[in-house]
This record gives sequence, C-alpha cells and structure tokens, in this order.
Amino acid sequence: MPSAELFDGSEIHQWIGGEARPGNGPALTLIDAITGSPRGALRSSDSADVDAATAAATSAFAEWRRTPAAERAAALRRAAAQIRLHADELGRILSRDTGRLLGQATESAAVAADLLEEAAVTGVLEAGRSLGGNWMAVDAVRREPRGVIAVLTPWNDPYPAAAGLLAAALVTGNVIVHKPSERSSAAGSALASLLAPELPAGVMNVLVGGGEVGATLVADPRVDMVAHIGSTATGRSIARIAGARGARILLENGGKDPIVVDRGVDPRWAAEQISIGAFTNTGQLCTSVERIYLHADIAEAVTGELVRIAEGMVTGDPGANGTDLGPLVDERQLAIVARHVDEATEAGARCLTGGTRLDRPGSFYPPTVLTGCRADMAVMREETFGPIAAITVVPDFDAGLRAANDSEYGLAATVLTPSTEHALRAADELDVGTVKVNAVFGGAPGGSADPRKASGHGPGFGPALLGEFTALKAVHIEAAVTA
Ligand code: NAD
Repeated sequence: MPSAELFDGSEIHQWIGGEARPGNGPALTLIDAITGSPRGALRSSDSADVDAATAAATSAFAEWRRTPAAERAAALRRAAAQIRLHADELGRILSRDTGRLLGQATESAAVAADLLEEAAVTGVLEAGRSLGGNWMAVDAVRREPRGVIAVLTPWNDPYPAAAGLLAAALVTGNVIVHKPSERSSAAGSALASLLAPELPAGVMNVLVGGGEVGATLVADPRVDMVAHIGSTATGRSIARIAGARGARILLENGGKDPIVVDRGVDPRWAAEQISIGAFTNTGQLCTSVERIYLHADIAEAVTGELVRIAEGMVTGDPGANGTDLGPLVDERQLAIVARHVDEATEAGARCLTGGTRLDRPGSFYPPTVLTGCRADMAVMREETFGPIAAITVVPDFDAGLRAANDSEYGLAATVLTPSTEHALRAADELDVGTVKVNAVFGGAPGGSADPRKASGHGPGFGPALLGEFTALKAVHIEAAVTA
C-alpha cells in the first residue's frame, strides 16, 4: 500500500518475481515538484536487476498464458478496486511527484481504475474467430499473447498511461517488465504496489530508475515486444534497438497539436477552448494545443479573450483551492519552455502576457500568449510541453488546414468551425491520429487511433490495443485416418 514515505524514496522498490526489493544500482535523487528541492533518493535498478526481472517474467509466461481470460480479468478488477480505495493517496503522491493539480491527479488515478475495468470486459470477449472451411475440419484464427512485454511509461500522465498498456497486455496473457518514468518514480511505484500483488509472482515485474534501465531492458533478447509512451527521441532509439532484432514495437510519442479556428465562431468560446487545450496540466499533455491558427476575421477578438483568460488564471501550489496551473515538472522542462518563448520573441513574436518564470521556488511558469509566431520558430516546430499559446493568423480556413498539416508530428488536431463542410474536410484532410471538431478534448469510449509521422506507431489506446498485444495464428485441424 502506498504511504507518505514514498516521498523520500525510502519505500520506492522494484517488484521482481512477486517481491518488493530495493534496486542494486546507483542512487537517484528525487525532486519535489512543488518546491523544486531534492526530497530524497531511491536505489535504481542495475543490469542484474533487469536480468532478474526479465527472467521472472519469462518463467511466469507459460502458466499465465494458459490462465483463463476470465481469471486474468478478475485480477485486473481487484487491482482497480485497490486503486479506487487509495485514489486520494495516489493523487497526493502524483501531485508531489510532478506538480499536477491535486484534484486532477486524484481523478487520473480513477481513470487508471476505469481502464483496468474496461480491459477486464473487452479483453475476454474476443480470442480469435472460427472460419467456414471443410465441415470435417476446424479452421480458426487464434489470438495469442506475444510473451514478455517491456512497458516504458512517461511522467506527465503516468497512471492512465501505464494502466492502459498494462491492462491490455495482461488480460491478453502477456507477462510484463514495467519501468515507470524516473520523474514520477513514487507514482509509478505506488501504482505497481497495488497491481503486482493481485497477479501471480513474476507476471508483472517493475524496475526503477532512468533511461539507462529502460535501454538495458529494450536490448534484452528475451523481450518480445516494447510498448513505449514517451518522447519521440526515445521512441526512435527503441525502434532502432528492438526493431533491429525483430521485436514488436508500439510507440506513442510526442505531439505538436494544432487548433484551427474558423471565422463565425464565438470568440469567447474559442478562447476558452484554446485555454483548456494549451494550459491544462500546465501544457504538459501529449495532446496539449501547441499551435494556434486563427482566421484573420476573428483573430483580434479571440486573442483578446485568450489574454483575459490567461491573466485571470492562478499559477501556484497544485494542492491549493483555486489554483489553475501547477509548476512544470522540473527545471529541465522549464528550460525548454523558456528557450522556445525567448527565441520566438527575439525572432519577432510578441508576448502579450506571461513569458517569464515566476519568482518563487519550484519550476513555475505562467500562462503565456504569443502572437506573430512563424512556422520556422521552435515554438511552432518542436514540442514545447508548457503553458504557451503560440498564435499565427491565417487568411482563410484552407491556409489553416495547410499550416496544421505542416508538422513533423501527427498526434491529434482540433478545428473550431460553424461550417459542416469545413468540419468534414478537417476529418478527412488532417494527417493525425485523432481529429476533434468543436471540442478540444473529448471522445467516446471504444475509440482507437494510430498516431502519424513522428508521433508514433500503432494504436495506444482502446480496443485495437488488445490486437497489438496479440499475434494471430491460423489453425487447421482435421481428423486422422486411423489404423
Ligand atoms: P521519455 O521517452 O523520456 O521517457 C518515457 C520512458 O522511457 C521513461 O520510463 C524513461 O525512463 C524511458 N526511457 C528514456 N530513455 C530510454 C531509452 N533510451 N531506452 C528505453 N527507455 C528509455 O518521455 P517523457 O519525457 O517521460 O514523457 C514526455 C513525452 O511523452 C512527451 O513527448 C509526450 O508528448 C509523450 N507522451 C505521449 C503520449 C501519447 O499517447 N502519444 C502520452 C503521454 C506522453
């Protein structure tokens, strides 16, 4: 069960073969996201730990893959119940780890429980299909688990990110070696401590530490598949190493999501939508709005409303009532955000509000509105991952769509428009995994999406994820001719 000691690192352990034990690798300093100060240290995993975790998973596979799917699903439901029971504690841990607003951090634990429960239902429904061949034969396509899955997850929304992958992989009969992000080690460890005990020993193993631990795991030939949610640079390195030996890879990587605002929409509503997209979780969501294309006819009105909203937002303690924005996760992230803003203003963009870190301990950066942004600026090309609304004015909707597609990334995009024709064109023409029209966030359960271009490879959520974690096998059975 998670407890407050996780905050200083002393209880952050690996799970290997059903046991919680400290890593044998170097100490990893933990930063308190709220104060920006070191709060403790944990012992990270070393290569012998990676070896032991992979060996434990490999030996647990034969039994787990033959465990009835309904039993595997029952384990997920038990874990979900534990998560719901400890949601407040999980929220506190995550908020301290990454600076996420306390209410949203607690809510994200509940979303993780939802994902486990959802997979417990959908994961048992389809194990393949039978075919209409010769009546004297049985022909079928079976779905089989792939084997040992390395699950590597990020810090920015760690509970749902991990739960979605783990649930789909486990319910389909795979075994796991999981390494949560080193920037949310306490949250990762807390979630693992609720999930792993509900499973037979060795089915889910958890390592702790940084990218080097993940890289050692990815290089292990016993790992049949790597599922990574994280940055594009890491995804590419994983694709090189795991791909070279033929391991399956699933990559859900970075984004630079655009929003195109057409003429004819209410400027105040448009500004609200943009602010939700750009500032939620201090701009640290993979689907944060990072590029804003405003039709010239409404640009001034929308920009004015956006500045008004940004100036009314409270940046501060993520646990306090009334706070709208918590800190950035750490100084490394703040340096990227500050560089993008500073380079843009030096190159001619105008900063209408924000634009300088707050003068207080912790990596606090206020909601910032930039106008006059150009396609060659880093703030319009590279993932910023901060509370920055970067605006370009476009002459018409077509120019907005073209600009939206002019990116290395292809995760998601939003269009605000009163025109049905423009909505349908956006759905058809935007080269991204998810298109949203007239709502910056939203979507029904049951969806799945393939990210495009540098944003990844393979569906990272929804029912299609179950297919990713299984391999198809065609089976043809006839009766023998007996002697
Ligand atoms: P990251 O890639 O640095 O880290 C993710 C995980 O990979 C961590 O556990 C990390 O330790 C591990 N890792 C790092 N280097 C590795 C290596 N060389 N080999 C193997 N493992 C390695 O990403 P991050 O900074 O933690 O997360 C933020 C990024 O994640 C952003 O780019 C964001 O857009 C992206 N993200 C994408 C989605 C999505 O669904 N597309 C969702 C959430 C976050």
